[in-house]
Amino acid sequence: MTDFVFVRIKAMPCVNRCWHCFCEGSPAGRFMETEKCIGILDQVADLKAELNTIVFPMFYDEPTLHPLFKQIMKHFLARELTYDDWWFSTNGYGLARMSDEDWQELAEAGFDFIRLTFHGTGAMHDELAGRSGAYEDLVKTIEKAEKHSVNWVAGMFLNQKNQATYEETAKTVSNLGKKMFGEFGWMLPHSEGRAAEGKGRVKLSEISRLLVDRKGWYTEGDFVRKVLSDPELGKRTARDNKCGIVYLDIDEDRNVFFGGGCDGDPFCSIKEKVFLGSLNETTVSSCYHKYLNEPPEPIRILNQITLGELAARYGNEENDEVFHYSSLANHKWLVKHLMAHYEKKST
Ligand code: SF4
Repeated sequence: MTDFVFVRIKAMPCVNRCWHCFCEGSPAGRFMETEKCIGILDQVADLKAELNTIVFPMFYDEPTLHPLFKQIMKHFLARELTYDDWWFSTNGYGLARMSDEDWQELAEAGFDFIRLTFHGTGAMHDELAGRSGAYEDLVKTIEKAEKHSVNWVAGMFLNQKNQATYEETAKTVSNLGKKMFGEFGWMLPHSEGRAAEGKGRVKLSEISRLLVDRKGWYTEGDFVRKVLSDPELGKRTARDNKCGIVYLDIDEDRNVFFGGGCDGDPFCSIKEKVFLGSLNETTVSSCYHKYLNEPPEPIRILNQITLGELAARYGNEENDEVFHYSSLANHKWLVKHLMAHYEKKST
């Protein structure tokens, strides 16, 4: 049973080049035509009505960059496609430059939540986001959100360079306004996109102070030892078929691909093998059903390997970098397994 369908629509480029970006956002991307974006939103809304569950679209790279962002967002809101406090991630570029009239118009239409990512404050943020002025845009976006009573939530992706500034960043950002929802938090990236090679991933000695109250975080070495010493754990299939989460990815040309589940997206480098259909010929709903009825070959491959086999073949007992266990096993190791399978097949 599917509880969540997340639909990631690549419809615009980005102004930043963040160190951790899973979709490798950059100014080099293309814009999808507005009517095509809106057509996809209508199909996503149809799927939501059909499944009667959470079906949530997200735009990549940076939604506020689209020249007709306001029109797209108003349609998004009119079709009731928001989801919880996740629902609008942005680097603030377009929002910092949007007029008060447009902010007001969107706020009245239901635009009530934004999610902001920091990499530090000032120059540290700009350096890791890859653009001078990126931090200032977030600050201006918060000022505008405060003025128009839009809630915002904020957190920080940590790496070796910025981890020491976490507490100072949390304090500075938390003092930027009163509409901040919940507490400032930290995250580590999945091993995909620009973070795939683990560049700058934090080591245990660097963030042990932050792990005291957080469960599920291990060094790769510790998790390998845990899996290999626990036969019950080792027998579990690595991929959780029943997790209830399905991602669908739609590219600028409206091709639809399977995008993973709870396991993140281990298919980044073999996307053509998880192709589900083109929206020039079929619908989002048909692609979703195709995934269920005829799972692409890589999914069948991943369904056959256990956590123990993955740890033994691909785990690095010497590695003291920190991962969430689900990301480590179900993403980093599964990527290696797929690459090994297809490399072997082509030789
Ligand atoms: S702002 Fe978002 S989409 Fe753009 S590069 Fe950074 S993480 Fe990627």
